[in-house]
Amino acid sequence: MTVMTASGVQAYVEKAQKYMSERQAHRDRVRDLRFDTIAVHGMYSAEEAFSGGQGGIIEPIFPSTSQAYRDSDEMEAALSYQIPTWCYSRIHNPTVFYLEETLALLEAYGCECDATGLCTSSGMAAIKQAIEPLLAKQRSGTENINFVSAAQTYGGTFQLFNVRMAERGAQVRWVREPWKTEEWENLIDEGTRFLYAEMPSNPQQAFADIQAVADLAHSHGIPFIVDATIATPALMRPLAHGADIVIHSLSKTAGAGGCTISGAIIARHDMVSKHLDDEVKADYGLWLKLWPFRDSGPAMSPATAHIILGEVRTLRLKMEQMSRNTLTVAHFLADHPRVERVDYLGLDDHPLHDLAGRYMKVVDDGSPSFGHLMSFNVAGGAAETRVFFDGLKRTWRATDLGRIKTVATIPAISTHQQQGEEGRELAGIPANMVRLCVGAEHAEDTIADIDQALALV
Ligand SMILES: *Cc1c(COP(=O)(O)O)cnc(C)c1O
Repeated sequence: MTVMTASGVQAYVEKAQKYMSERQAHRDRVRDLRFDTIAVHGMYSAEEAFSGGQGGIIEPIFPSTSQAYRDSDEMEAALSYQIPTWCYSRIHNPTVFYLEETLALLEAYGCECDATGLCTSSGMAAIKQAIEPLLAKQRSGTENINFVSAAQTYGGTFQLFNVRMAERGAQVRWVREPWKTEEWENLIDEGTRFLYAEMPSNPQQAFADIQAVADLAHSHGIPFIVDATIATPALMRPLAHGADIVIHSLSKTAGAGGCTISGAIIARHDMVSKHLDDEVKADYGLWLKLWPFRDSGPAMSPATAHIILGEVRTLRLKMEQMSRNTLTVAHFLADHPRVERVDYLGLDDHPLHDLAGRYMKVVDDGSPSFGHLMSFNVAGGAAETRVFFDGLKRTWRATDLGRIKTVATIPAISTHQQQGEEGRELAGIPANMVRLCVGAEHAEDTIADIDQALALV
């Protein structure tokens, strides 16, 4: 009878090391491919398909909650993290892992740095997971814990920063004009743990000089986090401009089909943070995955990962078409007598057009492209705006955005209702503003729908 000893564990570790180095070599080859090729294939190869995937050309979904082990040695090696494992789906899942790798490779595309991706159950979970460890009290510099954020953020982010983080003793300091780098500088002090911005923001389309803000953050030994939900890596990759962490609500543009709530964190290796231990910041994404994430449980479901993998394959194509459509619609609206004002980063007269144009470009093509979020103000007031809005026939009335279908909302009565009149004034949300997220329909059909609704005003 053979008695299993520690050498049995060692055998599994050695086998895993061989597998890991082959995997790394494959990843290095994938990194050298173009954006679209990475988006289409990710890390899933024919080799993998034939070793357990039944030859399927699409990544399989692994719905199983947990992984079984051949024997106690393999179990010990796995649960002590000595070999790759997905032991339990809250911690890790093979289908989710395919998506995490794809997103990491796309965000780090064209960047000297490498990155690790971590998928979450929602965009809000991604933001919370990414920032919480940075704000922990036991880290050095426990006095006056704060962080600095662009004021133009998604409503959920605003609440998380303003209310939830304040409850824990971390103060948010808002930058009102994030395109002015000196405003960021004035708010940073010894207690500042990180800088944060959403770009382009919704619905104001605020923008910051990514490289300048990243340099500023690093000169203070802190990371810069960018929520790039609206841009997606097909148009903008903040890591290549110095940002340390990128956040996505995959519920929005990256998941344009609109069938899942999900999010992701993509963190640069060797990120800057004077508050984190060296081994944590060497691979913050992996550390988050193995430790805090495991304990708080905001995992993405494998079915969701499967849907998003399918979406990401055509990301560049969709972003290019939806951006082109948005520009066409914006030009139409800018010339329309019943429209008072149009805000779209893609219009030459937008004050942030040049700044955004430096960062938002179609990948591998280089032509400026500004995404599919815009807003405009209907001539008149709240009443006229509702007449227009109610007259839309094909454009969906919803608070949603990032869709392959054109969606419109009136922020003052929906997304920004809770803020009250004064709050809206501060945020620059008048009653006659319509937020429009242009989809992939033919632009002329979208214009026809908007035109007939404006004719009712
Ligand atoms: C929707 C959104 C979020 C939150 O994402 P959920 O997936 O809804 O939790 C965060 N940031 C931006 C820019 C968003 O639009």
